[in-house]
Amino acid sequence: MAEREASCEDPFDALIPVERARARMLSALSPVAGAPERLPLDRATGRILASAVVAAFDVPASANSAMDGYAIAAADIPADGRIALRVVGSAWAGRPFQGACARGCAVRIFTGALMPDGTDTVVMQEHVERSEDDAGARILIDHTVAPSRHVRAAGEDVAAGERLFPAGRRLGAADIGVLASLGVAGVEVHRRLRVACFTTGDELVSLQAAASGDVSDHTAPRPPGPGLLYDSNRYTLASLLSGLDVELIDLGIVADTPEATRAAFDGAAAQADLVISSGGISTGEADHVREIFHERGEIGFWRLAMRPGRPLAFGRIGQAVFFGLPGNPVAVMVTFLQFVQPALRVLAGEVATAPLVLPARAVSPMNKALGRTEFLRGVATLDEHGELVVSTTGPQGAGRLSSMAAANCLIVIDPDVARVAPGDRVGVQLLHGLLP
Ligand code: AMP
Ligand code: MG
Repeated sequence: MAEREASCEDPFDALIPVERARARMLSALSPVAGAPERLPLDRATGRILASAVVAAFDVPASANSAMDGYAIAAADIPADGRIALRVVGSAWAGRPFQGACARGCAVRIFTGALMPDGTDTVVMQEHVERSEDDAGARILIDHTVAPSRHVRAAGEDVAAGERLFPAGRRLGAADIGVLASLGVAGVEVHRRLRVACFTTGDELVSLQAAASGDVSDHTAPRPPGPGLLYDSNRYTLASLLSGLDVELIDLGIVADTPEATRAAFDGAAAQADLVISSGGISTGEADHVREIFHERGEIGFWRLAMRPGRPLAFGRIGQAVFFGLPGNPVAVMVTFLQFVQPALRVLAGEVATAPLVLPARAVSPMNKALGRTEFLRGVATLDEHGELVVSTTGPQGAGRLSSMAAANCLIVIDPDVARVAPGDRVGVQLLHGLLP
């Protein structure tokens, strides 16, 4: 993945476009090797299948009723639907009718009950008139009857032999339910990815230290001290990663010195599949991540034509894939969602699809610069015509993390757009669905 680094003096057009960088990044990655694990189904939510699941039998296994009513043979019913049938028994879910239903007869049936032999159709109970006489119950059908109506066919949900979930599928709630319906009590999943995170900056104060790690401490939050700030990025990253079901290795705050940064790199690379840092990748005197990545790592790309998120470091340190995210909290989230998340999915063995970018109409003007992709924090809603419209959350400074909390989407504006006027089309990535 080595590539010549664009120098800092390079003009704007030397920056790498987002789509090209993403494609290049994905082509440089492959799933990390490792023996799969076998897990009981109730512990498999969020995990990624290591082998495909093939249905061993039909679901439902046999035809059954979708309604409360009467099971009949459609061939018995005349075109106008009017006929009297003798009721010869009942069928309940889990308690089938024993025997066969002869011509001219019907079986009282309830939702979920097996279709009795000799029947192929269910007439809703609302469409019959029932009467009792010495010979037992009779029904008079006074409604047209469509053959096979209100019957769930065997295999209509899943057919035996169907390759339902391929390897690489991240299991969600519906998948877990479907697997249970298929009698699959355990699945083979990829091992969890080990992800090491550290933040850099002498100005950072660790929240644990401030609160003594004591959650019963109800004292009011204290300001971090003059010139200092709480290390929010490590919390944001941990929260983003928790949605991706990884094994998190929290390496804490790393001081702005070459020695501390080198030790963090080496320690992280020795134990993780993926290493994520925040801060220290600009060209300031206190920015050592950049320098140590050059010394220790194999560099993929540095400077992207995007905002927020320039620069962003990507490459390898030892066997581990490395992302050096900017320090600005909004840039951390945006670069994570646009780059780290898709990379992590590939490394974890997931076959993932790119997030949807929906077309929306801007309702407010949006400032941007030509030549770069911009990700603004937006609020998307439907207008009175049902059309998707979007406005920004307000001021868009990369340090305003609350703008991310106020947003329900990222507004994606292409590099060739110079400015957005009300009524213009923009792309929208809904955070619900984008956030892990
Ligand atoms: P840097 O890229 O290291 O120059 O960081 C840029 C800015 O991002 C800093 O001036 C801080 O305001 C902010 N920042 C850096 N790291 C963190 C962090 N871990 N948590 C919150 N804000 C941070
Ligand atoms: Mg810094």
